[in-house]
Amino acid sequence: MAAPKRFFAERIGGEMLLPAEQSRHAKNVLRLTEGEEVTLFDGSGREYTAVVAEIGREGVRVRVVRESASDREPRVDAALLVGALKGDKTELVVQKATELGVNRIGVFSSRYCAAYMSDNKLERLARVAREAAKQCLRATVPEVVYYATLEEALRAEAGCEEKLFACEFLPAGGGELPAAGGSVCAVVGSEGGFSEEEYSLALSLGYRGVSLGRRILRAETAAIALLSVVMYRAGELS
Ligand code: SAH
Repeated sequence: MAAPKRFFAERIGGEMLLPAEQSRHAKNVLRLTEGEEVTLFDGSGREYTAVVAEIGREGVRVRVVRESASDREPRVDAALLVGALKGDKTELVVQKATELGVNRIGVFSSRYCAAYMSDNKLERLARVAREAAKQCLRATVPEVVYYATLEEALRAEAGCEEKLFACEFLPAGGGELPAAGGSVCAVVGSEGGFSEEEYSLALSLGYRGVSLGRRILRAETAAIALLSVVMYRAGELS
């Protein structure tokens, strides 16, 4: 049997209507039927089993029957800081970082950053994170925050045990990353890369410069590659 369909709602409990957009999708695309079991999640890490009680005019009404903790949440607390990227590249990074198990995503502006951020774009990123969480069966949704400066972003994650700053002008072959700690932050620049001053700032805030090899990767490739290594090392990809 196919896995129960998943829906995100902010407030879950008792008998409730699925939020309007999810109701429409459930009705018109997924064609839910009364009596069918679904899974609800609210981003808190808990999951709820519910049964479709009624498919009506006002939407899809479900009855919550069980609550449980998700067993798919990452054991490492990982954050990604990424420069704002052009086009829909930031969306791609948010989607992939969510699938890989990141808990927080900070998008920052920096010296050579050419893209701008707006409330609309940020809302769109939050939505991409929700959709990706739903698709990969996570029960938490990473929060997406915008920082107007690199310094703000770096300071916001200063509490992480391990702080990695991917810097394209560092020599390759710097050695292996140390064993994973409980919390890690990965920083990747935008298309324009980082300046020497930005690298020095990161070092002064306790970040460690890392190379991703002899080739220059696109920012989105760099983010996915670095997170993959971090998550593999933490036992999250096996
Ligand atoms: N415009 C820059 C490249 C920026 S690449 C140039 O021409 O040199 C975008 C970001 O991806 C970088 O800021 C860095 O965070 C990461 N990145 C790409 N290739 C990398 C590499 N070989 N080592 C470390 N970081 C890399």
